[in-house]
Amino acid sequence: ATFTKEEILRLAHEEGVNFIRLMFTDLFGVLKNVEIPLSQLEKALNNQMMFDGSSIEGFTRIQESDMYLYPDYSTWLVFPWNPGEAKIARLICDVHNVDGEPFAGDPRSNLRRVIKEMNDLGFTRFNLGPEAEFFLFKLDENGMPTRELNDHGGYFDFAPLDLAENCRRDIVIELEKLGFEIEASHHEVAPGQHEIDFKYDDVLAACDKIQTFKLVVKSIARKHGLYATFMPKPIAGINGSGMHCNVSLFNEDGTNAFYDPSGDLQLSETAYHFLAGILTHVRNFTAVSNPTVNSYKRLTPGYEAPVYVAWSPSNRSPLVRVPASRGMGTRLEVRSVDPSANPYLALAAILSAGLDGIKNKLTPPASVEENIFEMNQEELDAHGITALPGTLFDALTLLEQDEVIKAALGSHIFEKFVEAKHQEYDEYRLAVHDWELKRYMSLL
Ligand code: ADP
Ligand code: MG
Ligand code: MG
Ligand code: MG
Ligand code: MG
Repeated sequence: ATFTKEEILRLAHEEGVNFIRLMFTDLFGVLKNVEIPLSQLEKALNNQMMFDGSSIEGFTRIQESDMYLYPDYSTWLVFPWNPGEAKIARLICDVHNVDGEPFAGDPRSNLRRVIKEMNDLGFTRFNLGPEAEFFLFKLDENGMPTRELNDHGGYFDFAPLDLAENCRRDIVIELEKLGFEIEASHHEVAPGQHEIDFKYDDVLAACDKIQTFKLVVKSIARKHGLYATFMPKPIAGINGSGMHCNVSLFNEDGTNAFYDPSGDLQLSETAYHFLAGILTHVRNFTAVSNPTVNSYKRLTPGYEAPVYVAWSPSNRSPLVRVPASRGMGTRLEVRSVDPSANPYLALAAILSAGLDGIKNKLTPPASVEENIFEMNQEELDAHGITALPGTLFDALTLLEQDEVIKAALGSHIFEKFVEAKHQEYDEYRLAVHDWELKRYMSLL
């Protein structure tokens, strides 16, 4: 919905809103908020809410720490719950510098910048339909997450195996109250693993929805005595959680730019260029789409997650799949992304990679119908199939070599991101893990 300033002020008073949460996302995908009373709403809507950005991770240096929150009026939402009698609304904000320019370290403003580049190429809209998977663990008596899964169900199972059925349904009800159009909700393949799909939206709005989605999933799960985690691979030996990204591009006349009824597979030249751009850059943006040490434990053979760079119109296992629907529903599904990604950054990278393919008229390799996981190295080489990076460190090395993805992030975000992620990897490298003790202690 779109609102004017006056409408928001009127609605806030009419609905008896007491507090407004001004939300934004930090570099690592963590949703932050500052809460203001109703008396400050007008000031906030006039872009006059200042905050100190220096304590936000990856944001800024001390000497330039003052920042302003610019609320996006279209994100106005009154929460349906009233904690402690107070009625709370939210506005998602862009972060701006004191000079009024968008802050280069704000992932949401950065995605806007990339969308503008897309507009300059003649495309009006980039749609995203994300499929964020998550696990539900039991909470202990102190409300802390345990390592115990809440059920032992499998794909599309019913209760009593799927003990999370009520929890999942409550999540769906809550999301619907918040204006989400839920398409499906089901138990995933792994025990304790779930998926709730909401309808695609314009990429910026869809990224906002991912952030709200995570918040709702976590808080409703807690009400059911469960802990929801979007960690990519919480348990070894079973599937991890992905966040497949279904994406499509639209022309000025409102038609789907990926669709061409007379094209090969009814896909347009643009679709093939975009696909080629993704396949060209995907190894290099993996640090962004799979940004944690743990992400790389999911990207391993045998658990439905992609490992090799390939595409297919039918096969479900490759990195990029072309789902069967055509016409307005023509889309590409990027299957490597996981839910630990900052959605604004991951989508800036995906969109820039695709646009690079369009600008340079890149052509994708032939699709692969065989089972890639059964190929030996010789066969992989013959098909020109490369593998995704195996660790966060390798992924960062690749990221540092890709000018297109660097530009997609902008130099501020690129530098802060790479620095922080190297630090994260070093911490992991320096830690002595349980596995090492088990493996070596009694042996050596
Ligand atoms: P899968 O078959 O991979 O499990 P799902 O049905 O779970 O796929 O999810 C498909 C997602 O794709 C949904 O979020 C849906 O809204 C989205 N989608 C449908 N059409 C488009 C489109 N044209 N562009 C982007 N996303 C789309
Ligand atoms: Mg799905
Ligand atoms: Mg489905
Ligand atoms: Mg799934
Ligand atoms: Mg999928």
